[in-house]
Amino acid sequence: MSSRPPRISTHLIHHPYRAPSEFDATVPGVFKASSVFFPNVAALRQRRWDDKSAYTYGLHGTPTTFMLEERLATLEGARHVLLAPSGLSAITTVDIALLRQGDGVVLPDNVYGPSLNFVEQELARWGITHRLYDPMDAASLAAVLSPEVKLVWLEAPGSVTLEFPDLRALVRTVREKAPQAVVALDNTWGAGLAFAPFELGEGLGVDLTVHALTKYPSGGGDVLMGSIACRDPGLYQTLAWAHSRLGLGVGLNDVEAVLRALPSLELRYHAQDRAARRIAQWCGEQPQFARVLHPATPGSPGHEHWQSLCSSAAGLLTVELDPRFSAAQGDAFVDALKLFRIAWSWGGPVSLAVPYHASRMRRLPTPYRGTLVRLCIGLEAVDDLIADLAQAKDSALGAG
Ligand SMILES: *Cc1c(COP(=O)(O)O)cnc(C)c1O
Repeated sequence: MSSRPPRISTHLIHHPYRAPSEFDATVPGVFKASSVFFPNVAALRQRRWDDKSAYTYGLHGTPTTFMLEERLATLEGARHVLLAPSGLSAITTVDIALLRQGDGVVLPDNVYGPSLNFVEQELARWGITHRLYDPMDAASLAAVLSPEVKLVWLEAPGSVTLEFPDLRALVRTVREKAPQAVVALDNTWGAGLAFAPFELGEGLGVDLTVHALTKYPSGGGDVLMGSIACRDPGLYQTLAWAHSRLGLGVGLNDVEAVLRALPSLELRYHAQDRAARRIAQWCGEQPQFARVLHPATPGSPGHEHWQSLCSSAAGLLTVELDPRFSAAQGDAFVDALKLFRIAWSWGGPVSLAVPYHASRMRRLPTPYRGTLVRLCIGLEAVDDLIADLAQAKDSALGAG
């Protein structure tokens, strides 16, 4: 090239200025990229992404994703973490990575619904079979374990009905009856704070966890993201290669949002836990509610298992309306709420409510007859939330 100075568009793109690198502040810098530069062709050929020793392409990580992955690994006592575009995609990535034609997968009957839909609608087409077990009965799990089963899903507590299983008994059952199977836990509810899934005691731990970072880690109700965490390097390689071949990436602004929210994760989780306990207690005193499903509340299914494993609980509870109320009255109760908004998901600042009917959610028999209303407690003042529940209950269900 001649010594002529570059034209302005070229100059703006290839500007030689480099800011001093010692910048250090509360929030780490955000590194965004599809293309990542190599100094020469040899570096292009040599760099590896699978051990995270270098940067090769945005899909394979930037300093920002590596930082979130490390912090999430520390939170849960894992060694390796992968990020996925949603909690559900973290789940389906595990399924795809670990199962092949002829294999079986086993899920609790109260599993997060879309996880079961994936197994029933997609994996079945690929010759992968599934069985459901009653998570409150280890014998029911033992009964569905066979040599074909390569993956066992756990969830604590169950979706919507919040039964807390004896995780230790379930893991022990898999280790004894199906040592070939990987044990995977959807740990979204525990958020890495309620209990340590890789150390359930007596040499027992799950092999991997998935999280919907969408919930408590993001905390804002404005991010969709998931993660997969494990300890074993071989398992990590299997998961990382499948994850890479599926082409799963996350937006770097979203990663930044989660990094920004993580420092307050524990404070928010405990505040929402405290609020949910007060609301659960109040709900338990109302004659219109037949049952309060909330692991930290005595009498809730699996409360003793929660007690033996956990010190905290998330901000979720479900009330079963007395079966004398119709489904329409259940809907009217939710419609009458003013502070609680009607929406899926949870973990953000706004309290949310959704009505469910157990008969439409479960394959195995359930004891629930009345409308179930799942409440996720946000960060509003708890007395205002109780007042909101009281007015909605009185207007839709009558005073007694
Ligand atoms: C929300 C949720 C998911 C899915 O997360 P998305 O980010 O919404 O896909 C998976 N498991 C559990 C237990 C959840 O609550």
